[in-house]
Amino acid sequence: MFDVSKIRSEFPILAQKIYGKNLIYLDSGATTQKPVSVLNKIQSFYTEFNSNIHRGVHYLSNKATEEYEGARETIKQFLNAETKEEIIFTSGTTDSINLVAFSFGETLVNEGDEIIVGETEHHSNIVPWQMLCERKKATLKVLPANINGELNILEYKKLLSEKTKLVAVAHVSNSIGIINPIKMIIDEAHKFGAKVLIDGAQAVQHLAVDVTGLNCDFYVFSGHKIYAETGIGVLYGKKKLLETLKPYKGGGDMIKSVSFEKTEYAELPFKFEAGTSNYVGAVSISEAIKFIRKIGLEQINSYETELIKYTEAKLSEIPGLQIIGNSEHKTSAVSFLLSGIHPYDIGMILDKLGIAVRTGTHCAEPAMKLFGIQGTVRASFAIYNTKEEIDQLYEGLLRIKKMFD
Ligand code: PMP
Repeated sequence: MFDVSKIRSEFPILAQKIYGKNLIYLDSGATTQKPVSVLNKIQSFYTEFNSNIHRGVHYLSNKATEEYEGARETIKQFLNAETKEEIIFTSGTTDSINLVAFSFGETLVNEGDEIIVGETEHHSNIVPWQMLCERKKATLKVLPANINGELNILEYKKLLSEKTKLVAVAHVSNSIGIINPIKMIIDEAHKFGAKVLIDGAQAVQHLAVDVTGLNCDFYVFSGHKIYAETGIGVLYGKKKLLETLKPYKGGGDMIKSVSFEKTEYAELPFKFEAGTSNYVGAVSISEAIKFIRKIGLEQINSYETELIKYTEAKLSEIPGLQIIGNSEHKTSAVSFLLSGIHPYDIGMILDKLGIAVRTGTHCAEPAMKLFGIQGTVRASFAIYNTKEEIDQLYEGLLRIKKMFD
C-alpha cells in the first residue's frame, strides 16, 4: 500500500485549518483538490510557453500545441481509446453530453425515436436529452432503479426496442456512489443497434476505464473531478460515429475552409473544438493522469473501497443513521440521513468542525424522489482521505445527534 500522508503532503490545500480545526475535505465528488504537480504544471505552462495553439508558426505556439496534443495522447492511452481523434476536448461533462445530445440528435434522432436515461442520473445526463426529445419529437424513457438505487436490468431489457436510438447512464452515480453495470447495459443496447453514452464524471478518478473493451459509443468526464482544472472536460466517441455527426459549435479551429458560399469542416477531433479551447486545462488533465498513474488506479480503487466500507460500517453504528444507496458495488461516495435532522443543518454544523460535506439533492432530483426524500448528506472521497478523517466525521455526527436529541 502507498503512504497516504505522503500523498496528502502533495495537496497544499489540505494542510489548512478551517475555524481553527484541521480541514477534513469530504466533498471530492463535487470537485477534487489539486496536487502540486498539477499546480506547478499550470504555472510553468503560463510562465514558459503560453501561446494560442494550432495557429502560430512561432516557437511558443508550436510548444503549446505539442503539449495540448500530447495531453490528447495521454488521455487516449488512459481511456484505452483506439485513436487520438476519438478524444475531444470540451469544457466539462455537461458540455460533452450537450455536444452529443445536439450532434447525435441532429444527425440521427427523428420523430418517434426513443432515448433511455437512468433514473439516478445527474441532471446533466437528463436535461440535454429532454431538450433533444422536445426538439425532435422523440420520447425519453426512464431506466428504473430499485429502492437501493440499483438499476433494474430486467426492466431495462423490456424498454429496449428498434426505436431506441441512445442509452445514457452514469458509470458511477454521483448522489449515492453506486457503480452501474455498464458493460451489460452497453451490450444489451447494441443488440438493438442503439448507441450508449457513459457519464464517467464520478468514475475515471476511481476505476480503470477501457472504452475499447467496454465498447461504449461515448464516454465523458470532467477535468476538475480528476485532480485537474475546471473548465475542461473530455468526450470520447468512436471515430466512425463521430465522423458522421454534425458539429455542435461553429467557429475558428473547426473548419477546413470558409467562404460565404460553402464552409467545409475540419477533420476529427478539431471538428468539435470550435474556438480557443482551454488548452492549459487539457495539459492539466494530462498531468493529473500522471499523478494517478504514479499511484496506480488499482491501488486507488482498493484503498478507496476500503474507505467506503469503513465509512459505512462506522456510520451505521450511529442510532437513527440511514445510508441511502445500499449496494455491494460502490465507489466514491456515501450518502446518508440522520433521523429527524435536516441534511442542511448537519452540513452547517460539520462545517464548523472543519468537515466539508455536500448536502441537498446533488443535482439528482429524480433519484431523491425515488428514495422519497428531499436530499442527503454526502461524504465523497479521493485518494487523500483517511480513516482518521472518517472517525472525525463519526464523532461530529454523534455531537450533532446529541445537540438535537
Ligand atoms: N455527471 C455526474 C455523474 C456528475 O457527478 C457531475 C458533476 N457533479 C456532472 C455530470 C456534471 O459535471 P460538470 O459540472 O463538471 O459538467
